[in-house]
Amino acid sequence: MKILILGLLSAWALNAQAELKVVTTTTTLENLVQEIGQDKVDVSSLTKSNQDPHFVEAKPSYMVKLRQADLLVSVGLDLEVGWIGNVQRGAKNPTLLKGSKGFFAAGDHIEAIDIPEGKLDRAEGDVHPLGNPHFHLDPIKTISVVEALAIKLGELDSANAEFYQRRAADYAKTLKEKMKDWESRITKSQVNNVITYHKSLSYFLRRFDLDVVASIEPKPGIPPTAKHIISLIKLVKQKNVKCILNENYFETTAGERIKGVTQASLQIVPVEVQTDYFDLIESLVTAVENCGKGV
Ligand SMILES: [Zn+2]
Repeated sequence: MKILILGLLSAWALNAQAELKVVTTTTTLENLVQEIGQDKVDVSSLTKSNQDPHFVEAKPSYMVKLRQADLLVSVGLDLEVGWIGNVQRGAKNPTLLKGSKGFFAAGDHIEAIDIPEGKLDRAEGDVHPLGNPHFHLDPIKTISVVEALAIKLGELDSANAEFYQRRAADYAKTLKEKMKDWESRITKSQVNNVITYHKSLSYFLRRFDLDVVASIEPKPGIPPTAKHIISLIKLVKQKNVKCILNENYFETTAGERIKGVTQASLQIVPVEVQTDYFDLIESLVTAVENCGKGV
């Protein structure tokens, strides 16, 4: 009996050791790490799926989570610049600091769009100086992130490096297959231009050949004025815009006003994973289809 218990205990200890503790800043990254790592990782996200990841309170509970983690996975490109530094410092876990082996920024592995030119001015709003950090809504860019994540997990857990590589390859294959269906459905929807609240959907729209006519916020992080809404209404009518995609963590009153006096359909869409990444992109594709049907 004693031997059995000892055996069980050591098996448990081995298992506990094998599990990489990963903390991500968003639920989308959490899901991607889970897909690649399966039972070899214990992963959790600091923010919830309907939370604005630009502005987050650096809670002490986040620091406790990070203190015990082997890896911090962030979006990068300064998306979390307002809060993650405080959490990292408070965690007192130097291996998770930028440049250390327990830190991963997805943005280091993709080519960004919307990089502002010239000198930055705060009057331009809360711009992203390193380029648009919302690349995760482009499934093809997400493949690059998944591949880089698999390498990082393998670096920290070399015994399972091959497993992570295989999982990433399978995941990329599934995503590429799904792309065909998503692309054809968006083409069929006959929607070709949209407005969004923030530039969160720029990569998604670009990937699926949809034009962004304007943003509801006149400048990043700045809510719309009555004047701006009037100019948007004009634009929507002029360009026959059928679709307003309003990210679920921004207010919808401006979108509703525009919808009320134009032909545009208003879709409130998730921009971070609620169940899994496939469902997230599926929701966005369905939202565009709904716009096409005038729902
Ligand atoms: Zn943003």
